[in-house]
Amino acid sequence: MSQRDSNDASLDLSAFWMPFTANRQFKQAPRLLKRAKGMYYTSYDGRRILDGTAGLWCVNAGHCRDEIVAAVKAQAEEMDFAPTFQMGHPIAFEAATKIARHTPGDLKHIFLTNSGSEAVDTALKIALAYHRACGQGQRTRFIGRERGYHGVGFGGISVGGITPNRRAYSGALLPAVDHLPHTLSLEHAAFSKGQPAWGAHLADELERLVALHDASTIAAVIVEPVAGSAGVLIPPRGYLERLRAICDQYGILMIFDEVITGWGRLGAAFAAQYFGVTPDLLTMAKGTNNAAAPLGAVAASAAIHDAIVGGVADGIEFFHGYTYSGHPIGAAAACATIDLYEREQLFARAARLAPYFEAAIHRLRGEPHVIDVRNLGLIGGVELQPREGAPGKRAYDVFVGCFEKGVLVRYTGDILAFSPPLIIDETQIDELFSTVAQVIRETK
Ligand code: PMP
Repeated sequence: MSQRDSNDASLDLSAFWMPFTANRQFKQAPRLLKRAKGMYYTSYDGRRILDGTAGLWCVNAGHCRDEIVAAVKAQAEEMDFAPTFQMGHPIAFEAATKIARHTPGDLKHIFLTNSGSEAVDTALKIALAYHRACGQGQRTRFIGRERGYHGVGFGGISVGGITPNRRAYSGALLPAVDHLPHTLSLEHAAFSKGQPAWGAHLADELERLVALHDASTIAAVIVEPVAGSAGVLIPPRGYLERLRAICDQYGILMIFDEVITGWGRLGAAFAAQYFGVTPDLLTMAKGTNNAAAPLGAVAASAAIHDAIVGGVADGIEFFHGYTYSGHPIGAAAACATIDLYEREQLFARAARLAPYFEAAIHRLRGEPHVIDVRNLGLIGGVELQPREGAPGKRAYDVFVGCFEKGVLVRYTGDILAFSPPLIIDETQIDELFSTVAQVIRETK
Protein backbone atom coordinates (compact mmCIF):
# COMPACT_ATOMS: atom_id res chain seq x y z
CA MET A 1 0.00 0.00 0.00
CA SER A 2 1.63 3.26 -1.03
CA GLN A 3 1.74 6.18 1.36
CA ARG A 4 0.18 8.33 -1.35
CA ASP A 5 -2.93 6.20 -1.58
CA SER A 6 -3.55 5.62 2.07
CA ASN A 7 -1.98 6.97 5.21
CA ASP A 8 -3.60 4.36 7.41
CA ALA A 9 -1.29 1.35 7.40
CA SER A 10 -3.34 -0.29 10.16
CA LEU A 11 -6.40 -0.71 7.92
CA ASP A 12 -7.06 -4.40 7.19
CA LEU A 13 -8.07 -4.80 3.57
CA SER A 14 -8.52 -8.56 3.56
CA ALA A 15 -12.07 -9.21 4.81
CA PHE A 16 -14.14 -6.98 2.51
CA TRP A 17 -14.76 -8.90 -0.73
CA MET A 18 -15.22 -5.91 -2.95
CA PRO A 19 -17.98 -5.68 -5.58
CA PHE A 20 -17.01 -5.47 -9.27
CA THR A 21 -13.37 -4.97 -8.32
CA ALA A 22 -10.01 -6.48 -9.12
CA ASN A 23 -9.48 -7.05 -5.41
CA ARG A 24 -5.84 -8.05 -5.49
CA GLN A 25 -4.93 -5.16 -7.77
CA PHE A 26 -6.84 -2.75 -5.56
CA LYS A 27 -5.05 -3.89 -2.45
CA GLN A 28 -1.69 -3.15 -4.06
CA ALA A 29 -2.64 0.53 -4.41
CA PRO A 30 -5.95 1.27 -2.71
CA ARG A 31 -7.94 4.36 -3.50
CA LEU A 32 -9.68 5.26 -0.28
CA LEU A 33 -12.14 8.09 0.22
CA LYS A 34 -12.81 9.59 3.59
CA ARG A 35 -15.08 12.60 3.35
CA ALA A 36 -17.44 14.22 0.89
CA LYS A 37 -19.04 17.63 0.50
CA GLY A 38 -20.78 19.18 -2.47
CA MET A 39 -18.81 18.41 -5.65
CA TYR A 40 -15.79 16.94 -3.88
CA TYR A 41 -14.49 13.91 -2.08
CA THR A 42 -11.48 14.06 0.19
CA SER A 43 -9.21 11.06 -0.14
CA TYR A 44 -7.73 9.26 2.84
CA ASP A 45 -4.45 11.08 2.27
CA GLY A 46 -6.17 14.45 2.31
CA ARG A 47 -6.45 15.22 -1.41
CA ARG A 48 -9.49 16.93 -2.91
CA ILE A 49 -11.15 14.85 -5.66
CA LEU A 50 -13.66 16.44 -8.04
CA ASP A 51 -16.56 14.00 -8.40
CA GLY A 52 -17.21 13.53 -12.11
CA THR A 53 -19.52 10.56 -11.53
CA ALA A 54 -21.82 11.59 -8.65
CA GLY A 55 -20.43 8.62 -6.73
CA LEU A 56 -21.97 5.85 -8.84
CA TRP A 57 -24.41 8.00 -10.83
CA CYS A 58 -26.34 8.59 -7.64
CA VAL A 59 -25.44 11.69 -5.64
CA ASN A 60 -27.37 14.02 -7.93
CA ALA A 61 -27.75 16.88 -5.43
CA GLY A 62 -24.08 16.81 -4.42
CA HIS A 63 -22.56 15.23 -1.33
CA CYS A 64 -23.60 15.55 2.30
CA ARG A 65 -26.20 18.22 1.73
CA ASP A 66 -27.14 19.76 5.08
CA GLU A 67 -30.89 19.22 4.67
CA ILE A 68 -30.50 15.52 3.84
CA VAL A 69 -27.98 14.94 6.63
CA ALA A 70 -30.36 16.60 9.10
CA ALA A 71 -33.31 14.51 7.94
CA VAL A 72 -31.36 11.26 8.23
CA LYS A 73 -30.09 12.21 11.71
CA ALA A 74 -33.53 13.21 12.94
CA GLN A 75 -35.12 10.03 11.62
CA ALA A 76 -32.41 7.81 13.12
CA GLU A 77 -33.08 9.41 16.49
CA GLU A 78 -36.87 9.33 16.28
CA MET A 79 -37.42 5.82 14.94
CA ASP A 80 -34.72 3.59 13.48
CA PHE A 81 -36.93 0.91 11.99
CA ALA A 82 -40.53 -0.18 11.81
CA PRO A 83 -42.12 -2.81 9.57
CA THR A 84 -44.24 -1.97 6.57
CA PHE A 85 -45.86 -5.42 6.42
CA GLN A 86 -49.46 -5.05 7.62
CA MET A 87 -48.54 -1.80 9.39
CA GLY A 88 -46.74 1.35 8.47
CA HIS A 89 -45.23 4.67 9.38
CA PRO A 90 -45.86 8.10 7.86
CA ILE A 91 -42.43 8.70 6.34
CA ALA A 92 -42.75 5.73 3.91
CA PHE A 93 -46.09 7.08 2.66
CA GLU A 94 -44.67 10.61 2.42
CA ALA A 95 -41.69 9.37 0.40
CA ALA A 96 -43.93 7.46 -2.03
CA THR A 97 -46.19 10.51 -2.41
CA LYS A 98 -43.23 12.78 -3.17
CA ILE A 99 -41.79 10.29 -5.66
CA ALA A 100 -45.20 10.07 -7.34
CA ARG A 101 -45.22 13.88 -7.78
CA HIS A 102 -42.48 13.39 -10.36
CA THR A 103 -43.21 10.05 -12.05
CA PRO A 104 -44.65 10.29 -15.57
CA GLY A 105 -48.24 9.71 -16.72
CA ASP A 106 -50.33 7.69 -14.31
CA LEU A 107 -47.41 5.75 -12.84
CA LYS A 108 -48.35 6.81 -9.34
CA HIS A 109 -48.21 3.53 -7.38
CA ILE A 110 -44.79 3.26 -5.82
CA PHE A 111 -43.33 -0.01 -4.51
CA LEU A 112 -40.26 0.67 -2.36
CA THR A 113 -37.13 -1.51 -2.46
CA ASN A 114 -33.53 -1.10 -1.28
CA SER A 115 -31.68 -1.03 -4.56
CA GLY A 116 -31.93 -0.85 -8.30
CA SER A 117 -31.44 -4.61 -8.60
CA GLU A 118 -34.40 -5.23 -6.33
CA ALA A 119 -36.45 -2.65 -8.21
CA VAL A 120 -35.78 -4.50 -11.47
CA ASP A 121 -36.71 -7.92 -10.10
CA THR A 122 -39.80 -6.38 -8.51
CA ALA A 123 -40.83 -4.82 -11.84
CA LEU A 124 -40.44 -8.17 -13.65
CA LYS A 125 -42.60 -9.84 -11.01
CA ILE A 126 -45.23 -7.10 -11.25
CA ALA A 127 -45.35 -7.61 -15.03
CA LEU A 128 -46.01 -11.34 -14.59
CA ALA A 129 -48.58 -10.74 -11.84
CA TYR A 130 -50.36 -8.23 -14.07
CA HIS A 131 -50.71 -10.61 -17.01
CA ARG A 132 -51.88 -13.40 -14.73
CA ALA A 133 -54.47 -11.06 -13.20
CA CYS A 134 -55.65 -10.27 -16.72
CA GLY A 135 -56.08 -13.96 -17.54
CA GLN A 136 -52.92 -14.02 -19.68
CA GLY A 137 -50.68 -16.10 -17.47
CA GLN A 138 -48.97 -17.54 -20.55
CA ARG A 139 -47.21 -14.22 -21.05
CA THR A 140 -43.97 -15.09 -19.28
CA ARG A 141 -41.28 -14.14 -21.78
CA PHE A 142 -39.10 -11.08 -21.22
CA ILE A 143 -37.19 -9.09 -23.80
CA GLY A 144 -34.06 -7.24 -22.69
CA ARG A 145 -31.26 -5.78 -24.74
CA GLU A 146 -27.62 -6.53 -25.46
CA ARG A 147 -25.35 -4.48 -23.22
CA GLY A 148 -28.29 -3.66 -20.95
CA TYR A 149 -27.54 -3.41 -17.24
CA HIS A 150 -30.37 -4.16 -14.88
CA GLY A 151 -28.55 -4.95 -11.67
CA VAL A 152 -27.36 -8.27 -10.40
CA GLY A 153 -30.44 -10.19 -9.23
CA PHE A 154 -31.26 -13.32 -11.24
CA GLY A 155 -34.01 -11.46 -13.06
CA GLY A 156 -31.72 -8.51 -13.73
CA ILE A 157 -28.83 -10.52 -15.14
CA SER A 158 -31.25 -12.61 -17.21
CA VAL A 159 -32.70 -9.59 -19.00
CA GLY A 160 -29.37 -7.77 -18.84
CA GLY A 161 -26.92 -8.12 -21.67
CA ILE A 162 -23.48 -7.73 -20.13
CA THR A 163 -21.61 -10.93 -20.87
CA PRO A 164 -19.25 -11.16 -17.86
CA ASN A 165 -22.14 -10.59 -15.47
CA ARG A 166 -23.96 -13.61 -16.89
CA ARG A 167 -21.21 -16.07 -17.79
CA ALA A 168 -20.84 -17.98 -14.53
CA TYR A 169 -24.60 -18.37 -14.16
CA SER A 170 -25.59 -19.02 -17.75
CA GLY A 171 -27.29 -22.35 -17.02
CA ALA A 172 -29.45 -20.89 -14.29
CA LEU A 173 -30.91 -17.72 -15.76
CA LEU A 174 -34.61 -17.10 -16.42
CA PRO A 175 -35.48 -19.53 -19.20
CA ALA A 176 -37.57 -17.37 -21.54
CA VAL A 177 -35.58 -14.24 -22.31
CA ASP A 178 -34.49 -12.68 -25.59
CA HIS A 179 -32.38 -9.66 -26.27
CA LEU A 180 -32.81 -6.83 -28.71
CA PRO A 181 -29.62 -5.61 -30.36
CA HIS A 182 -27.93 -2.69 -28.67
CA THR A 183 -28.05 0.63 -30.45
CA LEU A 184 -24.42 1.73 -30.53
CA SER A 185 -22.72 2.04 -33.89
CA LEU A 186 -19.34 3.69 -34.23
CA GLU A 187 -19.62 3.07 -37.95
CA HIS A 188 -22.83 5.06 -38.39
CA ALA A 189 -22.98 7.42 -35.45
CA ALA A 190 -19.56 8.13 -33.91
CA PHE A 191 -19.20 11.56 -32.28
CA SER A 192 -22.95 12.20 -32.34
CA LYS A 193 -24.04 15.09 -30.17
CA GLY A 194 -27.15 14.15 -28.24
CA GLN A 195 -29.34 11.50 -29.85
CA PRO A 196 -27.82 9.86 -32.94
CA ALA A 197 -29.83 10.25 -36.16
CA TRP A 198 -29.04 6.64 -37.14
CA GLY A 199 -30.59 3.53 -35.60
CA ALA A 200 -34.33 3.94 -34.92
CA HIS A 201 -34.97 0.88 -37.13
CA LEU A 202 -33.27 -1.33 -34.52
CA ALA A 203 -36.52 -1.15 -32.52
CA ASP A 204 -38.14 -3.19 -35.28
CA GLU A 205 -36.18 -6.19 -34.03
CA LEU A 206 -38.97 -6.47 -31.50
CA GLU A 207 -41.31 -7.31 -34.39
CA ARG A 208 -38.99 -10.18 -35.28
CA LEU A 209 -39.18 -11.56 -31.73
CA VAL A 210 -42.95 -11.18 -31.75
CA ALA A 211 -43.11 -13.18 -34.98
CA LEU A 212 -40.79 -15.82 -33.53
CA HIS A 213 -42.51 -16.37 -30.19
CA ASP A 214 -45.98 -14.95 -30.73
CA ALA A 215 -46.94 -11.82 -28.82
CA SER A 216 -49.21 -13.83 -26.55
CA THR A 217 -46.12 -15.28 -24.81
CA ILE A 218 -44.33 -11.99 -24.16
CA ALA A 219 -44.78 -10.23 -20.81
CA ALA A 220 -42.56 -7.18 -21.09
CA VAL A 221 -39.68 -5.40 -22.73
CA ILE A 222 -37.15 -3.78 -20.42
CA VAL A 223 -34.64 -1.15 -21.52
CA GLU A 224 -32.60 1.63 -20.01
CA PRO A 225 -33.70 4.75 -21.92
CA VAL A 226 -30.01 5.71 -21.90
CA ALA A 227 -27.81 2.73 -21.13
CA GLY A 228 -25.26 3.83 -18.57
CA SER A 229 -23.21 1.06 -17.03
CA ALA A 230 -22.42 -0.63 -20.33
CA GLY A 231 -20.75 2.49 -21.62
CA VAL A 232 -23.25 5.30 -22.25
CA LEU A 233 -25.44 4.23 -25.17
CA ILE A 234 -27.73 7.06 -26.27
CA PRO A 235 -30.99 5.97 -27.93
CA PRO A 236 -31.24 6.90 -31.60
CA ARG A 237 -33.88 9.50 -32.44
CA GLY A 238 -37.28 7.84 -32.71
CA TYR A 239 -36.11 4.49 -31.30
CA LEU A 240 -37.95 4.58 -27.97
CA GLU A 241 -41.11 5.87 -29.66
CA ARG A 242 -41.03 2.91 -32.05
CA LEU A 243 -40.48 0.43 -29.25
CA ARG A 244 -43.46 1.93 -27.40
CA ALA A 245 -45.68 1.66 -30.49
CA ILE A 246 -44.79 -2.01 -31.03
CA CYS A 247 -45.43 -2.80 -27.34
CA ASP A 248 -48.83 -1.10 -27.59
CA GLN A 249 -49.71 -3.00 -30.72
CA TYR A 250 -49.12 -6.39 -29.08
CA GLY A 251 -50.12 -5.80 -25.44
CA ILE A 252 -46.50 -6.08 -24.26
CA LEU A 253 -45.60 -4.06 -21.17
CA MET A 254 -42.76 -1.57 -21.48
CA ILE A 255 -40.40 -1.17 -18.54
CA PHE A 256 -37.97 1.73 -18.36
CA ASP A 257 -35.06 1.09 -16.05
CA GLU A 258 -34.36 4.64 -14.91
CA VAL A 259 -31.93 3.83 -12.12
CA ILE A 260 -29.40 6.13 -13.81
CA THR A 261 -31.58 8.44 -15.90
CA GLY A 262 -34.02 9.18 -13.08
CA TRP A 263 -34.00 12.31 -10.96
CA GLY A 264 -32.89 15.02 -13.29
CA ARG A 265 -29.83 13.73 -15.07
CA LEU A 266 -31.31 14.50 -18.50
CA GLY A 267 -32.89 17.77 -17.41
CA ALA A 268 -36.34 16.35 -16.62
CA ALA A 269 -37.37 14.29 -13.61
CA PHE A 270 -37.21 11.09 -15.66
CA ALA A 271 -36.08 10.12 -19.14
CA ALA A 272 -39.73 9.26 -19.81
CA GLN A 273 -40.63 12.96 -19.68
CA TYR A 274 -37.49 13.98 -21.52
CA PHE A 275 -38.24 11.66 -24.45
CA GLY A 276 -42.01 12.01 -24.22
CA VAL A 277 -42.39 8.22 -24.00
CA THR A 278 -44.30 6.81 -21.03
CA PRO A 279 -43.57 3.23 -19.97
CA ASP A 280 -45.94 1.00 -17.99
CA LEU A 281 -43.44 0.34 -15.22
CA LEU A 282 -40.45 2.44 -14.23
CA THR A 283 -37.59 1.46 -11.94
CA MET A 284 -35.46 3.93 -9.99
CA ALA A 285 -32.90 3.97 -7.16
CA LYS A 286 -29.71 6.04 -6.72
CA GLY A 287 -30.83 9.69 -7.08
CA THR A 288 -34.20 8.99 -5.45
CA ASN A 289 -32.68 9.84 -2.09
CA ASN A 290 -29.30 11.12 -3.23
CA ALA A 291 -27.84 7.74 -2.18
CA ALA A 292 -27.86 8.83 1.45
CA ALA A 293 -29.23 5.38 2.35
CA PRO A 294 -30.08 2.31 0.25
CA LEU A 295 -33.37 2.84 -1.60
CA GLY A 296 -35.00 1.85 -4.85
CA ALA A 297 -38.54 1.92 -6.18
CA VAL A 298 -40.87 0.78 -8.92
CA ALA A 299 -43.56 3.09 -10.23
CA ALA A 300 -46.53 1.23 -11.70
CA SER A 301 -49.34 2.51 -13.90
CA ALA A 302 -52.92 2.66 -12.66
CA ALA A 303 -53.91 -0.12 -15.05
CA ILE A 304 -51.25 -2.48 -13.73
CA HIS A 305 -51.86 -1.68 -10.08
CA ASP A 306 -55.61 -1.89 -10.38
CA ALA A 307 -55.56 -5.17 -12.29
CA ILE A 308 -53.38 -6.86 -9.68
CA VAL A 309 -55.21 -5.42 -6.69
CA GLY A 310 -58.65 -5.78 -8.25
CA GLY A 311 -58.09 -9.48 -8.86
CA VAL A 312 -57.94 -10.15 -5.13
CA ALA A 313 -61.18 -9.96 -3.14
CA ASP A 314 -59.50 -9.58 0.24
CA GLY A 315 -56.23 -10.50 1.92
CA ILE A 316 -52.72 -9.78 0.67
CA GLU A 317 -52.74 -8.33 -2.84
CA PHE A 318 -49.14 -8.84 -3.92
CA PHE A 319 -46.93 -11.50 -2.34
CA HIS A 320 -43.71 -9.57 -2.48
CA GLY A 321 -41.75 -7.19 -0.25
CA TYR A 322 -38.54 -6.55 1.62
CA THR A 323 -37.97 -6.13 5.35
CA TYR A 324 -36.59 -2.72 4.47
CA SER A 325 -39.27 -1.64 1.96
CA GLY A 326 -39.89 1.95 3.03
CA HIS A 327 -37.10 1.90 5.62
CA PRO A 328 -37.58 5.06 7.69
CA ILE A 329 -34.07 6.39 7.16
CA GLY A 330 -34.04 5.79 3.41
CA ALA A 331 -37.50 7.29 3.16
CA ALA A 332 -36.57 10.36 5.22
CA ALA A 333 -33.58 10.90 2.93
CA ALA A 334 -35.87 10.62 -0.12
CA CYS A 335 -38.27 13.26 1.26
CA ALA A 336 -35.43 15.70 2.00
CA THR A 337 -33.77 15.00 -1.37
CA ILE A 338 -36.92 15.54 -3.42
CA ASP A 339 -37.63 18.75 -1.49
CA LEU A 340 -34.12 19.90 -2.35
CA TYR A 341 -34.47 19.02 -6.04
CA GLU A 342 -37.66 21.08 -6.14
CA ARG A 343 -36.39 24.04 -4.11
CA GLU A 344 -33.16 24.37 -6.08
CA GLN A 345 -34.76 23.38 -9.39
CA LEU A 346 -31.86 21.08 -10.06
CA PHE A 347 -33.45 19.35 -13.07
CA ALA A 348 -33.79 22.70 -14.85
CA ARG A 349 -30.21 23.43 -13.88
CA ALA A 350 -29.10 20.17 -15.53
CA ALA A 351 -31.02 21.14 -18.67
CA ARG A 352 -29.32 24.56 -18.70
CA LEU A 353 -25.84 23.08 -18.24
CA ALA A 354 -26.27 20.30 -20.82
CA PRO A 355 -25.09 22.35 -23.86
CA TYR A 356 -21.98 23.51 -21.98
CA PHE A 357 -21.28 19.92 -20.90
CA GLU A 358 -21.76 18.76 -24.49
CA ALA A 359 -19.33 21.32 -25.90
CA ALA A 360 -16.75 20.52 -23.21
CA ILE A 361 -16.83 16.75 -23.62
CA HIS A 362 -16.69 16.96 -27.42
CA ARG A 363 -13.45 18.91 -27.15
CA LEU A 364 -11.90 15.51 -26.35
CA ARG A 365 -12.41 14.56 -29.97
CA GLY A 366 -8.98 14.54 -31.55
CA GLU A 367 -7.14 13.54 -28.38
CA PRO A 368 -5.05 10.39 -28.79
CA HIS A 369 -6.96 7.05 -28.80
CA VAL A 370 -10.41 8.74 -28.66
CA ILE A 371 -12.68 6.89 -31.10
CA ASP A 372 -16.06 8.22 -29.93
CA VAL A 373 -17.60 10.89 -27.74
CA ARG A 374 -21.31 10.75 -26.87
CA ASN A 375 -23.56 12.64 -24.49
CA LEU A 376 -27.06 13.48 -23.40
CA GLY A 377 -28.04 15.80 -20.56
CA LEU A 378 -25.37 15.45 -17.89
CA ILE A 379 -24.32 12.00 -19.07
CA GLY A 380 -21.24 11.55 -21.22
CA GLY A 381 -19.11 8.75 -22.60
CA VAL A 382 -15.68 8.75 -24.22
CA GLU A 383 -14.60 5.57 -25.96
CA LEU A 384 -10.91 4.81 -26.32
CA GLN A 385 -9.21 2.52 -28.78
CA PRO A 386 -8.36 -0.62 -26.78
CA ARG A 387 -4.67 -1.21 -26.29
CA GLU A 388 -3.41 -4.08 -28.44
CA GLY A 389 -3.87 -7.32 -26.52
CA ALA A 390 -5.06 -5.60 -23.34
CA PRO A 391 -8.71 -4.56 -23.63
CA GLY A 392 -9.91 -2.27 -20.85
CA LYS A 393 -6.41 -1.44 -19.71
CA ARG A 394 -6.18 1.96 -21.37
CA ALA A 395 -9.39 3.30 -19.79
CA TYR A 396 -8.33 1.84 -16.47
CA ASP A 397 -5.03 3.73 -16.70
CA VAL A 398 -6.92 6.95 -17.48
CA PHE A 399 -9.20 6.36 -14.49
CA VAL A 400 -6.18 5.85 -12.20
CA GLY A 401 -4.37 8.85 -13.72
CA CYS A 402 -7.39 11.10 -13.20
CA PHE A 403 -7.72 9.97 -9.59
CA GLU A 404 -4.06 10.84 -9.05
CA LYS A 405 -4.78 14.30 -10.47
CA GLY A 406 -7.83 14.82 -8.29
CA VAL A 407 -10.71 13.91 -10.61
CA LEU A 408 -13.05 10.92 -10.26
CA VAL A 409 -14.26 9.35 -13.50
CA ARG A 410 -15.68 5.88 -14.21
CA TYR A 411 -14.62 3.36 -16.76
CA THR A 412 -16.16 0.25 -18.21
CA GLY A 413 -14.20 -1.69 -20.78
CA ASP A 414 -12.42 1.06 -22.70
CA ILE A 415 -15.18 3.60 -22.19
CA LEU A 416 -14.94 6.50 -19.76
CA ALA A 417 -18.28 7.55 -18.29
CA PHE A 418 -19.22 10.90 -16.80
CA SER A 419 -22.26 11.77 -14.70
CA PRO A 420 -21.48 14.63 -12.32
CA PRO A 421 -23.80 15.88 -9.59
CA LEU A 422 -26.33 18.33 -11.04
CA ILE A 423 -24.80 21.12 -8.92
CA ILE A 424 -21.62 21.13 -11.02
CA ASP A 425 -20.74 24.54 -12.52
CA GLU A 426 -19.01 25.56 -15.74
CA THR A 427 -15.58 25.94 -14.14
CA GLN A 428 -15.80 22.45 -12.69
CA ILE A 429 -16.94 21.04 -16.05
CA ASP A 430 -13.83 22.62 -17.60
CA GLU A 431 -11.62 21.23 -14.85
CA LEU A 432 -13.12 17.77 -15.28
CA PHE A 433 -12.55 17.51 -19.01
CA SER A 434 -9.23 19.36 -19.16
CA THR A 435 -7.83 16.93 -16.58
CA VAL A 436 -9.20 13.99 -18.58
CA ALA A 437 -7.64 15.40 -21.78
CA GLN A 438 -4.28 15.81 -20.08
CA VAL A 439 -4.35 12.28 -18.65
CA ILE A 440 -5.40 10.77 -22.00
CA ARG A 441 -2.43 12.52 -23.63
CA GLU A 442 -0.10 11.09 -21.00
CA THR A 443 -1.50 7.56 -21.31
CA LYS A 444 0.13 5.04 -23.62
N1 PMP B 1 -30.38 -0.71 -13.33
C1 PMP B 1 -29.56 0.20 -13.84
C2 PMP B 1 -29.91 0.87 -15.12
C3 PMP B 1 -28.39 0.55 -13.17
O1 PMP B 1 -27.57 1.45 -13.69
C4 PMP B 1 -28.09 -0.07 -11.94
C5 PMP B 1 -26.86 0.28 -11.14
N2 PMP B 1 -25.84 0.89 -11.80
C6 PMP B 1 -28.99 -1.02 -11.45
C7 PMP B 1 -30.12 -1.32 -12.17
C8 PMP B 1 -28.72 -1.76 -10.18
O2 PMP B 1 -28.81 -0.93 -9.08
P1 PMP B 1 -28.17 -1.37 -7.70
O3 PMP B 1 -26.70 -1.40 -7.88
O4 PMP B 1 -28.67 -0.33 -6.73
O5 PMP B 1 -28.71 -2.73 -7.36
